[in-house]
Amino acid sequence: MERIFIQDYTLPDLERWVESIGERRFRARQVFQNIYGRRIRDWGECSDLSKMFRLQLEHGTHRHAIALRETKEAADGTRKLLFELRDGLCIESVLIPDPPRQTLCLSSQVGCALGCRFCLTGAMGLRRSLATAEIVDQVARAQEQLGAAGRITNLVFMGMGEPLANYEAVVRAIHILTDPLGMAFSHRRITLSTAGLAPQMLRLGNETPVNLAVSLHAAEDRLRGELMPINRVYSLEQLMKACREYPTPPRKRITFEYILLDGVNDSPGQARELVRLLRSVRSKVNLLPFNPYEGAPFGRPSDARVLDFQEVLLKAGMTVIIRESRGADIGAACGQLVAGASCLPAGGDRPGT
Ligand code: SF4
Repeated sequence: MERIFIQDYTLPDLERWVESIGERRFRARQVFQNIYGRRIRDWGECSDLSKMFRLQLEHGTHRHAIALRETKEAADGTRKLLFELRDGLCIESVLIPDPPRQTLCLSSQVGCALGCRFCLTGAMGLRRSLATAEIVDQVARAQEQLGAAGRITNLVFMGMGEPLANYEAVVRAIHILTDPLGMAFSHRRITLSTAGLAPQMLRLGNETPVNLAVSLHAAEDRLRGELMPINRVYSLEQLMKACREYPTPPRKRITFEYILLDGVNDSPGQARELVRLLRSVRSKVNLLPFNPYEGAPFGRPSDARVLDFQEVLLKAGMTVIIRESRGADIGAACGQLVAGASCLPAGGDRPGT
């Protein structure tokens, strides 16, 4: 029997698998609750399952898909977690405390093919997309770091990769993470950020009602195409059409992320262009002053310039917040995640056990 990664399986899939090995269908619910509700570490802890079934689980499944290799904590309490995948590649997730919230920023790919010019992950290129189990296990492993007293309250797909370029695995992971018998995250507490894959945005909205964030960073095609090559595939017109058609729930808005790059996209005139662009969408704007890293091709605007930009948007009646990236001192800020080669040193258990 081929060993399966159990976190790849939604509850209906698990019911089929359990039946295929000769067990009763309802056993799948018990397995699901043991993994995600009771957070068992090994099958021996499942006293509600027969010894024979526990042995089948032991030999027929991988309990985890990733292994924690390193944690780094920033001065502001943000923690960057480095995980090794079973092929030796690595990804990073970021735990961001913001009481009473505890947010986990998830990766969906090793690297990214979209090559946004301000992003270190994009500079790596794409190594591969993650499997569902590798996404779900980031949540389980990060939760272990918080211990019994702590609880992850919010999930954001804003780590390494473009989540909509790994659509099937990401949506499947969302189904598992929101299952009431599993970790039971509310869709309202999950946000997916995209660089603007317009067709997949609409599909997402119709299949799973998570919050949508769009990385915008420029309000006209020429500049956006320079900063984000994806704009040459899906223009701002196509992107805005997808935003207008996205089934945003009543009283909810699409979040637009706008990294302010000194002298590039941060003038009052460009702020007015942004107002015009977003006029037809229920929106809120997060302004993120750029966090320069070593060798970065852009600089951070002055505080006065950031405030001037915000002022234009506020005067137009928009909801706009200036956000500082968290964990910049440990390379955990937006666009700074770059793990991907092999994890060194590789001690301890290999993932996939
Ligand atoms: S900003 Fe997002 S979409 Fe763009 S290269 Fe970085 S990870 Fe990919």
